Amino acid sequence: MTAPSRSSDTHAGVADAVYRTAIVIDMHNDMPTKMLDEGYDPDVRHTPAEGHTDLPRLAESGITAQFLAAWVDAPYAATVPDSSFARAMRYIDAIHGLVSRHPELLRFATTGDDVRHAKRDGKVAIFIGVEGGHAIEGSLDHLRTFYQCGARYLTLTWNNGNAWAGSSIGSGGTRTGGLTPFGEQVIREMERLGMLVDVSHTSDETLDDVLAIATRPVIASHSCARALADHPRNLTDAQLRAIARSGGVVNVNFYPRFLDAGFCRAMDAAESALVPAASAEERRAALAAIPPVPLDTLIDHIDHIARVAGTDHVGLGSDFDGIAATPAGLDDVTGFPRIARALMARGYSADDVEKVLGANMLRVLDDVLRAPA
Ligand SMILES: [Zn+2]
Repeated sequence: MTAPSRSSDTHAGVADAVYRTAIVIDMHNDMPTKMLDEGYDPDVRHTPAEGHTDLPRLAESGITAQFLAAWVDAPYAATVPDSSFARAMRYIDAIHGLVSRHPELLRFATTGDDVRHAKRDGKVAIFIGVEGGHAIEGSLDHLRTFYQCGARYLTLTWNNGNAWAGSSIGSGGTRTGGLTPFGEQVIREMERLGMLVDVSHTSDETLDDVLAIATRPVIASHSCARALADHPRNLTDAQLRAIARSGGVVNVNFYPRFLDAGFCRAMDAAESALVPAASAEERRAALAAIPPVPLDTLIDHIDHIARVAGTDHVGLGSDFDGIAATPAGLDDVTGFPRIARALMARGYSADDVEKVLGANMLRVLDDVLRAPA
């Protein structure tokens, strides 16, 4: 083993200094699902195998603003009567509860200035994003309720499409087409309220329809580049450019399944080799046997989006605690500073590193989210 060279030490030192002063924004984290479904305790420190996020590690991570997802699984849309709205509201309650139990560390946030104040005061700004357009159950009143309860983005679909927007996966035989006239009303109402329109998970057709009518910046909270990994969840170069033209930001997902087509195929092969009755432990072991994707592959996606859409239009959306694997060296939220190091090692300027870490998204938060009246 050789000692690291002086120049790489200096490099890391400069990157760490940039990271410490930067506003760092992560646009998607699913820890609330672990809290609700597994009784996961966010107050105590866990291993990366147990969870990617908890408050001790969030404090250590240096993340300034964390969007927590109120994710509504597809089956809620199929229950009669539809229970999707109630499910999202349970998450919203749980996230508010988490913030109010921890005023020493967390600050509830709805604006760009809330992020700046959190940075100044050494707190983590917590935002809510609702994941899955079926959560509004076809009602603009429900959409307004989400906004009033503090949610600041809605992904128009999850893996399931809904009555007004198509999804990239169309799970359970749901819609994969474009936006309906009611879907257009949803976009207009979100823009009027000051809520981010999030196209992660939508079909190509829906994404094109959204960008054709959007008058405010559009975001993808957790999506990668399809030119590097051909997966329907990822965005084409034309889509990256169109989101940039809207003034928006594409926030890169850390999931190796979306970062690397080989990893995705290996996951599918491992999954199909398992018997249906395989235990969670057996599933984990099968996944752990797949060679990990290096951190550099994640940086490749950031770099590709920066080249195609521009350095002003790329950010970070980890999807931590919603993903079954992570890139090597990025085991949990405390790995975020390594992204700054890797970008600087590729020759990114301090300014451009700051943009990727959060300055780009902060610009969009300032643009789109209005301070409460
Ligand atoms: Zn997602």
